Amino acid sequence: MRPIVVVSASKGITDLLLDVAKGRKEVLKEIENRYTSIAREIGSFKLVKRIEEELDKLRRVAEGVGIADSVLTDYILSYGEKISKIIMVQALELNDIRAFELNATDIIVTNNTHGDAVIDYPATAIALEKVYSVIKNHSYVPVIEGFIGRSFEGEVTTIGRGGSDYTATTIASLLKIDKVYLVSDVDGIMTTDPDLVPTARLVKHMSYVEALEASMYGAKGINPKAFDPLVKIYSSNLLIGSWRNIGTMISREISRDFIGPKVIMLKDAGDYAYIAIVGEGVSSAKFVRDLLDTVVKLGIDIKGIQAHVHRPSIVLFVDKSRGREILKILHKVIFEGDQP
Ligand code: ASP
Ligand code: MG
Repeated sequence: MRPIVVVSASKGITDLLLDVAKGRKEVLKEIENRYTSIAREIGSFKLVKRIEEELDKLRRVAEGVGIADSVLTDYILSYGEKISKIIMVQALELNDIRAFELNATDIIVTNNTHGDAVIDYPATAIALEKVYSVIKNHSYVPVIEGFIGRSFEGEVTTIGRGGSDYTATTIASLLKIDKVYLVSDVDGIMTTDPDLVPTARLVKHMSYVEALEASMYGAKGINPKAFDPLVKIYSSNLLIGSWRNIGTMISREISRDFIGPKVIMLKDAGDYAYIAIVGEGVSSAKFVRDLLDTVVKLGIDIKGIQAHVHRPSIVLFVDKSRGREILKILHKVIFEGDQP
């Protein structure tokens, strides 16, 4: 079967479009520069022209208003993905892959919570089925925008930051597609933030529950809403990584060999910092006992601890000023085999 390609705006563009919506129209120039330079790199004059036409439309809308309301903001934001889609189709065509554009606004139906809309699966399934029955038998690759949809009122909506993941998992679950590749500039989900701990490693395998828990504690890489259709409709496997390396697979279940801590994260919380350890089994009595033993041996001062029996995480509250150092030490013990 041919893949279906879901595109996101290129890096930083959605933030720039948000500036435009807040009244900073001069930012449009920067958006134009970024997208037309990609088009030039691809080497297509036709593409540069097409992008300029789209941006002209956006400019006409944006220039008439000061600060956009939530409905107009979503319309403005939709141009990031729209232009990415146009570029992707051209890039595929130039590499001899026949491709064509699908419009997310014709297919992804949402409620009217602008900025953070929820996809209506039954309505989307009907629209998708219609299109899919036509396209499935020919050899063209469909390319659709992530992140945007249309409300029942007919307005363009967006489904939350990082929402392209959610679009992709929705389409995959509704069409019962087994694999969803989430491709970005990182090689996969890491055991911790590599900016804080350079020895962070890739996590090979995670369950939905673990990945969802990690994303709720702020792990980069995946939007929590993306799990909803996978849990409710069809359990596709998520493969996360870059064009160089697909480092992480997330599936409904993981085998017993993979039970245990997956990621450790640090976050400021008021006067303290918390360190969250996520993974199936980490709230078990044994893991907690071993962790507390380690903490005592290392002389780490814990201000509080939080564990839920039914959730795959344990959280330690520590002094804010020592957060990073403690994160490094615990990462060493838990993921790098150091003895306390
Ligand atoms: N472009 C959107 C954002 O920056 C959606 C996405 O990247 O998935 O949040
Ligand atoms: Mg993205």
